[in-house]
Amino acid sequence: MFKHFSGVIKAKWIVPVAIPPLPNGWLRLLEGRITEVGTGDYPQVSIDLGDVALLPGLVNSHTHLEFSGLETPIGYPGISFTDWIQLVIKSRGNANEPGVSTEMNQVDVIAKGLKELTDTGTLLAGEISTPPSHYEFKKSSAKLVTFSEILGLRPERYEERLRASEDHLRSSDWSGVSPHAPYSLSPAALLKVIHQSQISGRPLAMHVAESPEERELLTTGAGSMAELLQSIGAWEPDVFPWGKQPFAKLIEQFAGLRSVFLIHGNDFNQAEIQQVAANQHITVVFCPRTHHFFRFANHPIREMLRSGLRVVLGTDSRASNPDLNLWKEVQFLLNHYQDIPPGEVLKMATLWPAEAFRISFPEMPRIGAIQPGFMGQLGSVATTATNLQHLYRDLSQADYSPVELA
Ligand SMILES: [Zn+2]
Repeated sequence: MFKHFSGVIKAKWIVPVAIPPLPNGWLRLLEGRITEVGTGDYPQVSIDLGDVALLPGLVNSHTHLEFSGLETPIGYPGISFTDWIQLVIKSRGNANEPGVSTEMNQVDVIAKGLKELTDTGTLLAGEISTPPSHYEFKKSSAKLVTFSEILGLRPERYEERLRASEDHLRSSDWSGVSPHAPYSLSPAALLKVIHQSQISGRPLAMHVAESPEERELLTTGAGSMAELLQSIGAWEPDVFPWGKQPFAKLIEQFAGLRSVFLIHGNDFNQAEIQQVAANQHITVVFCPRTHHFFRFANHPIREMLRSGLRVVLGTDSRASNPDLNLWKEVQFLLNHYQDIPPGEVLKMATLWPAEAFRISFPEMPRIGAIQPGFMGQLGSVATTATNLQHLYRDLSQADYSPVELA
């Protein structure tokens, strides 16, 4: 990527994201930073990229790189969420067993995931990690915000994770906390994690309202998720149910935090969407292809957007998605949610997540749009379009590649 490039670049289209696409566009860079953007003929063009649309670098708001060694997702399309969790627990158990030869060790797996992010144009990702994890950034231009995952319904399980999380927040500037999910963490531990986020000012990311079974567990204390917890010996009788309005209570608990990422929100109802939308520091992460893998009911993304809620995109992991290419999530929405304006879909993968991360990390270089003051790390998509309709059709079909200038 042209980190220190100075000069003028021209392309058939510039898609600044913050404003509508510019045909026959150009941008001027100084030392890798954008200083000017325009359209029409420019006298001193350094590089003409020709028949491409230039876009900002991508921001992937939700990954678990520990699963990057998988060639195909765990389970099969349409698998029930609880069956899938069972298979994930089993695969994690196998990988950790001494003497079991796994194809790759964890360090290599994470490096592979990081390379995949870089190769597909992701500049920044929100990564759920189990510290101490090793991330090899030397060969990568992708930056990660690593959220330390805390799991456990019993103190003997979560206390150790809470200590690891404290250490993680101290040892890494680009860090946050991740109470895994309402079904896997005790409310007592959740309060402690919220406290960690509050005093550190770091962001919190939590899987919330992913499946109807989760709501059933939280409101009744029964259902297939309760059965799963019992079958793996993790059931804690005093933890569930939470009450009639579990998510309303949860969202209230996040009130004093600086920045919160609610991952999935597949099962939020209208009242919960309104409540989240009233909290500007809360962002919902939608993972379209993972959502599709489980064949969940329609995601309420349209209601979320109408309510003014900030929705951003994530790939989730290779345990539920064939790859970590965020552009494929953009294309999934462009092709399967055609009533959502394409300009909004592009913002979900660039400008909006960049803004959501900057709430906690104001010193982060500006990315996510092509406009003066922003970093010139960009991607391109082949197009010969002469109008907006054709441009968006090409974006929905052609690959995105990071722009490299020698
Ligand atoms: Zn996840």
